[in-house]
Amino acid sequence: MAVFKRLLLARASVVGRGLCSSSSSSSSSTGSSGLELRSLQQSPKGRNHQWVFLGCPGVGKGTYASRLSGLIGVPHIATGDLVRDELASSGPLSSQLAEIVSQGQLVPDEIIIDLLSKRLEAGGPKGETGFILDGFPRTVRQAEILEGVTDIDLVVNLKLRAEALLAKCLGRRICSQCGGNYNIASIDIKSENGQPGMYMAPLLPPPQCASKLITRSDDTEEVVMERLRIYNKLTKPVEDFYRQRGKLLEFDLPGGIPESWPKLLQALKLGDNDDKRSAAA
Ligand SMILES: [Zn+2]
Repeated sequence: MAVFKRLLLARASVVGRGLCSSSSSSSSSTGSSGLELRSLQQSPKGRNHQWVFLGCPGVGKGTYASRLSGLIGVPHIATGDLVRDELASSGPLSSQLAEIVSQGQLVPDEIIIDLLSKRLEAGGPKGETGFILDGFPRTVRQAEILEGVTDIDLVVNLKLRAEALLAKCLGRRICSQCGGNYNIASIDIKSENGQPGMYMAPLLPPPQCASKLITRSDDTEEVVMERLRIYNKLTKPVEDFYRQRGKLLEFDLPGGIPESWPKLLQALKLGDNDDKRSAAA
């Protein structure tokens, strides 16, 4: 229970740095079904955006969340990174985490919330408000805990067709020297039976990294399929949780970053042009 209290306290200290204590407008807890993308460019209640990114492992949500965080000026907090940092630190949790991760299992709520609490606490003194969470919440229980401590403004659900998703997961490579992320999969699905084709270029490393690429030990087909199975079992209900609250924005990735990024900005009303055709929920 203590860790949940810490998350709550951490959140209070982060949010408290904004102007939210004054002019507490009756919080718009609309139960409406359709997502209303009003004034997404404005920071609500004197703080910055508090967004969540959902999506299967390997869908690329880290990439999009990271780009967006730079654009809207909030930290991108990926629980996967927090876990990897803890693993690399050889701290008290690292051997326990190593076993869980190598089996493709989900890290228990208590550990994730503990790591997330520490991360949010660290951001408070730096004046951080708002965030894009990536990898949390993963279960309805986590979503309920989060909903209990703060308002999530928007949940973006990134989706990619299954055959592209698997190819992309198996194509992931990391530079063992600088830690850079690359992808050697070149995806070219022809259109058939009325389904549009899809092209995703590989994300090839620069020459200095090319000879140092490694595959993460959990990027085997077996582990990828197990991750997807667990994801679907646990996280589909999280999508329903936010859909019922009118906060879920579904976004089908039409291809790689060059095709997807401008369309995502449009859907989030962050694009340069006012094309609203993909914004309806
Ligand atoms: Zn490198």
